[in-house]
Amino acid sequence: MIKLLDLNKQYIMLREKINVAIQNVIDDTAFINGKYAKIFENNYADYLGVNHCIGVGNGTDALEIAIEALNLPKGSEIIVPVNSFIASAECVSRNGHRIVFADIGNDYNIDILDVKKRITKNTKAIIVVHLYGNPCNMDKICEIAKDNQLFVIEDCAQAHGAKYLGKKVGTFGDISTFSFYPGKNLGAYGDAGCIITDNENLAIRCRMIANHGRIDKYNHIIEGRNSRLDGIQAGILNVKLDYLNEWNNIRRNHASMYFEELSGISNIILPLVSKNVEHVYHQFVIRTEERDVLQEYLKKNNIETGIHYPISLNKLEAFAYLDNNQPKYLAEEYSREILSLPISETVDYDEMQVIIQTIKKYYKK
Ligand SMILES: *Cc1c(COP(=O)(O)O)cnc(C)c1O
Repeated sequence: MIKLLDLNKQYIMLREKINVAIQNVIDDTAFINGKYAKIFENNYADYLGVNHCIGVGNGTDALEIAIEALNLPKGSEIIVPVNSFIASAECVSRNGHRIVFADIGNDYNIDILDVKKRITKNTKAIIVVHLYGNPCNMDKICEIAKDNQLFVIEDCAQAHGAKYLGKKVGTFGDISTFSFYPGKNLGAYGDAGCIITDNENLAIRCRMIANHGRIDKYNHIIEGRNSRLDGIQAGILNVKLDYLNEWNNIRRNHASMYFEELSGISNIILPLVSKNVEHVYHQFVIRTEERDVLQEYLKKNNIETGIHYPISLNKLEAFAYLDNNQPKYLAEEYSREILSLPISETVDYDEMQVIIQTIKKYYKK
């Protein structure tokens, strides 16, 4: 079986280093907010070129805490792309704000023109998601945000190391979040996430919210919560961060193979990648009207694929209360046609060839 991501294979590549990293955390009893969590926060801030990195429990908490830290008036409207993982929207309603879904464009990222249409006097922020590892057009987003005095939150859960105009994503907005869920381009062995920002006040607030509002062990100055970076996860992330660029390069090489080999198939629409970005291909998403049949065919040939996401956020039962009474989103149409092909660093050259030949065979029938 060719898997979308084979975490066991990945572990075997790094076994010794990972085992040592875990043992160190235990030997030093640095379980929570300890030495290795600090080291990772510093390493990751350096990697991205930002002033502050706050390790938290997971990428969902990172978004929730980042929005809480902005201190927006309750009931503010926040614009969210309609094709993403649910966490990109939950963080809005969980903070007592109102989700406003914007459509996506044919690059699957938030559609800038649609964002403009949805801005009202109550709009206070935009959440952009660099979906599948493909950076959004941050020049345009930041321009709209500036013109309308909106905060920009970048959800970088799928885009570790991706660049827009030579600059890493996460460094454009007011505050940005990452997930280190095991399946991400940089993944821990459990839940983990972080918030990054250059704004010191926001950084201080986030750190306080994530750690019971404390400034001292038993001195709490606001009501916070518990969402901290686990020491063992931090130790593992420190090991894996050294491989992130190399692994992202492998993903880009795989993508080049797909582009080269599949471009002749007229029934497949390949990803649209702008020239001024460095995509990190968290997913390689194609579109085809025969999606379900192709997926079944690949499965029969032992090739695992995914759908990100099968239901656009506006269609989820969880958001039925939002009453999205408006013309259909393009995302709904796409959700029936998109298919994510294996592209991770655990897929080797021969496996890539098998996937490509199998797809070609399917379309020759
Ligand atoms: C994975 C993901 C999250 C949530 O991260 P968790 O660590 O699983 O909580 C948020 N947004 C996007 C776009 C994601 O892909």
